[in-house]
Amino acid sequence: MTAVKNILRIAVNRPFYSLLDYQCPDGMEVQIGCRVRVPLGYSVSLGIVVEITDKSAFKKLRSIQKVLDKKPILVENSLKLLHWASRYYHHPIGLVIFNTIPTLLRKGKPLPSMTVWKVNGELLDQADTLLKRAHKQRVVWEFMLKFASNQWLSEQPIQEELISKGVINWRSFLNQLKNKKLLINQKVEIEYTTLSSIPVIGLSKKKAVILTQEQQEVLAQLTLIYQAKKVKPTLLHGITGSGKTEIYLRTVEPILNAGQQVLILVPEIGLTSQLLRRFQRYFPQYIIALLHSSLSDGERSFVWQGVQNNKIKILIGTRSAVFAPLKNLGIIVVDEEHDNSFKQQHQFRYHGRDLAVKRAYDLNIPIILGSATPALESLQNVERERYHYLRLNSRPGTRIRPDILLQDIRNMRLEAGISAFLLEEIEQHLSADNQVMLFLNRRGFAPVLYCPACGWHAICQSCDTHMTYHAGMKKIICHHCEYEEYAGTNCPDCDHSGITTLGQGTERIEHVLQTHFPAIPVVRIDRDTTSRKGALDNKLAIVRQGKPVILVGTQMLTKGHDFPKLTLVGILNIDQFLFSIDYRAQEQLAQQIVQVSGRAGRGNSKGRVILQTSQPEHPLLISLLSKGYLNVAKQLLSERQKWNYPPFGFQGLIRVTASNKDSGLVFLQQLSDDLSLLGCQDAGVTLWGPAPSPMEKRANRYRSQLLMSASDRIVLHQFLSQAIGKLQVYKKSGNIKWSIDVDPLNML
Ligand code: ADP
Ligand code: ZN
Ligand code: ZN
Repeated sequence: MTAVKNILRIAVNRPFYSLLDYQCPDGMEVQIGCRVRVPLGYSVSLGIVVEITDKSAFKKLRSIQKVLDKKPILVENSLKLLHWASRYYHHPIGLVIFNTIPTLLRKGKPLPSMTVWKVNGELLDQADTLLKRAHKQRVVWEFMLKFASNQWLSEQPIQEELISKGVINWRSFLNQLKNKKLLINQKVEIEYTTLSSIPVIGLSKKKAVILTQEQQEVLAQLTLIYQAKKVKPTLLHGITGSGKTEIYLRTVEPILNAGQQVLILVPEIGLTSQLLRRFQRYFPQYIIALLHSSLSDGERSFVWQGVQNNKIKILIGTRSAVFAPLKNLGIIVVDEEHDNSFKQQHQFRYHGRDLAVKRAYDLNIPIILGSATPALESLQNVERERYHYLRLNSRPGTRIRPDILLQDIRNMRLEAGISAFLLEEIEQHLSADNQVMLFLNRRGFAPVLYCPACGWHAICQSCDTHMTYHAGMKKIICHHCEYEEYAGTNCPDCDHSGITTLGQGTERIEHVLQTHFPAIPVVRIDRDTTSRKGALDNKLAIVRQGKPVILVGTQMLTKGHDFPKLTLVGILNIDQFLFSIDYRAQEQLAQQIVQVSGRAGRGNSKGRVILQTSQPEHPLLISLLSKGYLNVAKQLLSERQKWNYPPFGFQGLIRVTASNKDSGLVFLQQLSDDLSLLGCQDAGVTLWGPAPSPMEKRANRYRSQLLMSASDRIVLHQFLSQAIGKLQVYKKSGNIKWSIDVDPLNML
C-alpha cells in the first residue's frame, strides 16, 4: 500500500521560524503554492502550502479549513528558495513569504490599468494651423503621427523617445494636444502584448555589433560550460566597457529560443532602463519586463503573473526579483555582482546574488556573475574551484582604458574641494564637445553648518551626529534618521548673522560649476534629485543626447552606466575611506575607484581620470593604480585569511536597539554568557562583544551588537538557532528590539 500524501507543511502569516504541519481533509484539493486558511491556537490564520508529504513528527494534526486558490500563486522552485532563505538568514518563514508576494495577488484583486494614446484622425487637416507657433507640441505631434496613427501607443515608448528628443515635459504636451483634439487617450487593462510592442515602435533598430576575438572565446567557453551535467556558476571578470552586456545578450539567446526564461539582476533601479533598452533592441520578439521597488503593487502583480505563466520571457530586476516565480527559468545573470546593494539591510537581510547562485544550483541552470571588480567572496570561490572564471581584458575597437592621474592636493587652494588643475581640465574637455563627470560620495550642500562666533554646530538630537545643510530646501537634514529643520540665517545660540558651512556635498559642487560654466547644463544625480518616479530616467536622457554636460553625483553614478561622450572623470574626497575602521572599506573603495574611472572613455575618444587626494602615497592607491584591481584583491584576501574574516570565516551579527544606554548591552551579555555555557567556544564559535555599535545612538535608540564568527558555517548556524531560542524568551526591558544579520556587510 502506498502512503497517501495528505500532510501539508504550511507557512503561516506569523513570525514563526518553522513550517507547521496540518492534515488535508479527504476530498479537499490543494497544491503547493496555494493559500489556505488554518486554525491556529484559538484563532485562524492565512497560510501557504510549502510542502506536501506523508509523514509528520506529530501524532495529532489539525485540519486546514479552506483552500483559497485553485491555482498556485507561487511556483515550486521559488517557494523552495524562500524556504531555504528563511532558514539560512534565520528570518521567520511566514514573513519571508508573505512580504514577498504582491498584495494584489495575495488578495485576488483585478490587475491595474494604463493609459494609451492615439492620433485623432478627424482633425488631421487642421493640425498645421493649430500648431503654428507651438514648436515642442509639433515635435510631439510628428512623433505621434508617425507611430500612433493606426494604433494605440502606451506611455513608456512615448516617454523614452520624446525625452531623447529633448522634450522633458512630454506628458503635458500630450495633454495640450489632447485639448486641441489632435490626440485621444483611454485607460486599458494592461496586456502582456503592450509590453512587447514597445521596442518595435519606439526604438531605432541598431545593427548587432561584431564580437571581438576575446568576446567570441568567452562565448565559446560559456557554451561548453552549459553542457556539463552539473553546471557550475561562472564569474565573468571583464574590465569596464569590455562588452559584458554584449556577452549576456548572446549567451541567453539560445536559451530564449529554446522557450526558457531569463532572469537578470542589477544592483539599482537606475540601471534597469538602460539594460531594458539594450535587450529590447536585441530581442524585439520577446516580452521583457522590469521588476523593482518603485513599481506599484498592481504593476508588480502583473509582472509576477506574467513570469508565472511564461508570457514574460526576460525579467530585469533589483534584488527581490530573485524570488520572482519564473516558471521556466533557464539562466540567471547577475550584473555588477560585487555591489553591496544586493544585500537587503533591514528586516529580512538576504543577499540577492547569493540567493541567485542557490536558485541556479537547485535548478541546475547556468548563472553568470559579471563585474569589473569582483567581490572577494566570488574570487575566493574561483580559487576553490566552485566557480568558473572568464576574463575580458580589453575594450572593443579603438577604445582604450583611461589614464588615471593621482593629484596631490596637500597645501593646495581648492575651490569647493575642486583644484584649479581639475577646473582647467573640465574646461578643455567641454570645449572639445565632450562630457565630464565629478564623483563625490556626499549629498547635500555641506556636511557641517556652524557659527564662527560661538562655535555652535547643527547636531541631530536623536543621533548625536552632524546634520547636513541642504541649500535648495534651506534645511538641515540628518542623513541617519531623516530628521529635518528649517535652517535660519542667524545662529540659534548667539543670534550671530554670519552662520556658515564647512566641507562640500554634491549640491555645492553643482552651484560652483554652474557659476564657472554658465552655458553648460550641470546634471546632479543623487538621492535628492532622483527620488521622484522617472526623475533619474529624465536626467540620464539629457546625458544621452550627447551634448556637453557636467554630471555631478554620488555612488549612484558609479554603476554600469554607458555614456559614450564622457571623457573626463574627477574623483573628489575619497580620503576618509582610506582610514575606515570597517574591514570591508578598502575593498569597496578599490571597487568604487575602478568603477567610476570606467565611466570615462567608453566612446571613441580616450578617457582621463583625475583622482584628488591628500594621501598620494597610500599603499592601496599606489597598488591599485600600478598593479590593478586583481592584485589589490589578492592582497586584501590574504589579510582576511590571517584574521579568519569572510570569505574564510563566517559571521553572524546580532543587533539590539533599546531606548536607554545600558539595557541592550545587558541583554546581549546574558546571551553571550548563555552561549558560552552551551559550549560555543569549544565548538569553534568566537564571540566578539557585546559592545556598543560604532554609531551608538541613532533615531533616539541606543544600538549594541554581538558578533559571532566561526570557520565552520554549519556550527555557526547551529549556535545562531540556539541564540534565537534564547532571545525569544529573555525578559526585555528598555523596549528592546533585536535582529539577526547573517553574512553582515555592514557593522555600523
Ligand atoms: P560592459 O558591460 O562590460 O561595461 P558594454 O557591454 O556596455 O560593456 O560595452 C561597452 C560599449 O562597447 C557599448 O557601447 C557596446 O555597445 C560596445 N561594444 C561591445 N562589444 C562590442 C564589439 N564587439 N564591437 C563594437 N562595440 C562593442
Ligand atoms: Zn553662534
Ligand atoms: Zn538623526
